[in-house]
Amino acid sequence: MNMSLGFSCSASLSPQLPSQLLARNSNNGGLEKVKNLITKTGIPSHITSPLESLQKGNWVKLICGASFEDVVDIRNLSLVYTLAGVDCIDCAAESSVINAVHDGIEAARSIIPVRRPWVMISINDSEDLHFRKAEFDPDDCPIDCSRPCENVCPADAISYLGKDGLSKGGVLAERCYGCGRCLPICPYDKIRAITYIRDVAATAKLLKQDGIDAIEIHTSGREADSFRELWNGLEGSIDKLRLVAISLPDLGELTIPAMNSMYATMNVNLHCLNLWQLDGRPMSGDIGRGATREAIKFARDLVSIKDKPRGFLQLAGGTNAHTVEGLKRERLFQTAATSSEKSLDSSHAMISGVAYGGYARKIVGRVLRSLQSEQGYAHLEDYPDHLLKALIESIALVGTVKSYNNNGS
Ligand code: SF4
Ligand code: SF4
Repeated sequence: MNMSLGFSCSASLSPQLPSQLLARNSNNGGLEKVKNLITKTGIPSHITSPLESLQKGNWVKLICGASFEDVVDIRNLSLVYTLAGVDCIDCAAESSVINAVHDGIEAARSIIPVRRPWVMISINDSEDLHFRKAEFDPDDCPIDCSRPCENVCPADAISYLGKDGLSKGGVLAERCYGCGRCLPICPYDKIRAITYIRDVAATAKLLKQDGIDAIEIHTSGREADSFRELWNGLEGSIDKLRLVAISLPDLGELTIPAMNSMYATMNVNLHCLNLWQLDGRPMSGDIGRGATREAIKFARDLVSIKDKPRGFLQLAGGTNAHTVEGLKRERLFQTAATSSEKSLDSSHAMISGVAYGGYARKIVGRVLRSLQSEQGYAHLEDYPDHLLKALIESIALVGTVKSYNNNGS
């Protein structure tokens, strides 16, 4: 697949200030520290393939967010996590977002020649929490409201006042990823959620372009007809893909029948790898230690079942820095599957890896917000001290799965 597309989202950045140009010119020295950290850490996935990671059980996916469309953040997140050695970057099915991911990957590869992570786009077959946006009209808000909505938003997507500090703001649609935390917090019930379903024909068109390696279908697992309709709509556009992922919630005893039904639909024309994303507690990894429990329980329940359809298993939903320790407690971390289980390869791991979303964005987002407050929208690599801080955070997280030599500290 030709990935040298020369994507750029530079147009979305502010014009370079003199101080930014100075910073750019003095970067070479600063970037040496970044390269040294990477060399010292020793990141094997910089050269091994994402498929190997799936088989060994150390696959890591960065979830930018199915609805998150802030291309500046997405570009910088992709840069940092490519350097940290992720295997896949999952993003919204929008051209501008995909371009931003590629731009970040290429920026990383211009610092150190690492292998490219796979690029995945996410779509849905029916109503799904990941595919919604919050909305309110600030003109309707009582003037004396203490604005709890602003504080609760993990994506800094709500601003009662506009960027000029005078006009009315609201929800920044490109930053809202639908977590829903603002909905119950408004004392005046002013915030509503708008759900949407990604257009299948537009997705099929996107998939025909180069630069997309994988697709993820978010499903409730309860609506076989919607899933079939979506799958059939993609026909002819999925032939070049390396991986199809299905993200589904824990349906208890209905999980395996749902997986079997979806696999039967896909199997007719599935010519690549497939993966089941076990979505524990959606979009909650940044909340705290306990958020990861549901994904681990889901994984534990599923691996004990023998008649699963073929496909790698990967955790998501509530995943954070405590996920691997939980998997280890359950003896699920990089434990080999037995050949009696329907595996893609007799030696692959029971759990292939972990996807990180809200938590991964939060730990790097702190650095991005600090950079933004100092320099406006900027390329992270132009500010090596910030890049170094972000990289230390991302290596610490990715390293829990990849077992790096150190945590970059
Ligand atoms: S709290 Fe969640 S749903 Fe509300 S605006 Fe922020 S990201 Fe969107
Ligand atoms: S909490 Fe509700 S009323 Fe208050 S600023 Fe936010 S949306 Fe408006």
